[in-house]
Amino acid sequence: MTGVPVTIARRPRLVEPQLEPSPGDPIVDKHGRVHRDLRISLTDKCSLRCTYCMPAEGVEWLAKASILSTEQIVRIARIAAASGITTFRLTGGEPLLRPDVVEVVRRISELRGPDGPVQVAMTTNGIRLPQMLPDLIDAGLDRLNISIDTIRRERFAALTRRDKLDEVLIGIRAAQNSSLRPLKLNAVAMRGVNDDEIVELVEFAMEHDAQLRFIEQMPLDAGHTWDRAQMVTREEILESLSARFTLEPVPGRGGAPAERWTLDGGPHTVGVIASVTAPFCGNCDRLRLTADGQLRNCLFSTSEYDLMPILRAEAAGSGDSGAAADSAASAAATDLAIDGLLRSCIHNKLPGHAINDPSFLQPARGMNAIGG
Ligand code: SAM
Ligand code: SF4
Repeated sequence: MTGVPVTIARRPRLVEPQLEPSPGDPIVDKHGRVHRDLRISLTDKCSLRCTYCMPAEGVEWLAKASILSTEQIVRIARIAAASGITTFRLTGGEPLLRPDVVEVVRRISELRGPDGPVQVAMTTNGIRLPQMLPDLIDAGLDRLNISIDTIRRERFAALTRRDKLDEVLIGIRAAQNSSLRPLKLNAVAMRGVNDDEIVELVEFAMEHDAQLRFIEQMPLDAGHTWDRAQMVTREEILESLSARFTLEPVPGRGGAPAERWTLDGGPHTVGVIASVTAPFCGNCDRLRLTADGQLRNCLFSTSEYDLMPILRAEAAGSGDSGAAADSAASAAATDLAIDGLLRSCIHNKLPGHAINDPSFLQPARGMNAIGG
């Protein structure tokens, strides 16, 4: 593979792309960004219907037969870990709806990469946490992000199209009482919907020993209704916060999507993920695996890299011969092909998304099917 490195400001972890990378080498794109973070969508199903993510009804679910098995997810994760992926974030849809979620956490958390054990994080709407958190922690879950956009009941019901605020609040309480830190709460800021709750949400997070992270609304809703005028910008969020708190920037952001500030001198902090008005593509180290086996090198990419033909070819060939040596060779060849597709997907990553370009095309999948 060849490529011409481009210069993008503030990129601490650039390396020259290797001409002939092999399994075990870091996964590097042609702009020199080393990839360390794989987000795995466990399902496109969800217990909520947030307006910025899913349509109210008529959802076209992924076909059941196309969903990756536990075994396939763990295999892909193992190959990614061997090539330097250090953090696995389980997401969806709602990851806790997947019946084998504890098993997936357990098996991924047992993986080791060249630099040691991997980290397993999860983004969830929190609804099933009270029942599941002890098992998830026992299985090796390291970190948790819970999404909550409003703490007002009627608003929550309108925004998520489900009257389930109490369940989410109980889930957040369970996380607060757990050992998982830092605990992060995600809120998408929307004009005329929850932009009057910005300070309240931060205070709520502080009371629960959590960090609030505001996310600029992105054009990823299944209904394609995103309207730039309705999104609340980073600047507006900071303006609202500054009216109540003294904000000091936290240095050392690295590849993290959130910029952070201490609140009134700390220790509490608040974050803003400004994907639209202050994109952080130059530092991006993330790739995604959808529940139906598609690799994506960007949230906004319109192309995907399909692992299914590779996985199916091995399954189809496995009946041909019973010899153990043949099946070991076939498994090794499949692993190599999976590693190769991971590398091609990342190699072809664009230097940045083009949300702010008039030619921008929203991806066909909604956020619930991409994996946020
Ligand atoms: N169901 C889980 C949850 O809500 O946390 C995990 C999946 S959800 C797709 C992951 C994150 O993406 C959530 O924090 C959600 O608020 C965020 N999200 C979904 N659609 C978005 C959009 N259009 N713009 C910005 N963030 C979005
Ligand atoms: Fe479900 Fe999360 Fe999408 Fe809301 S943001 S509809 S909780 S997947």
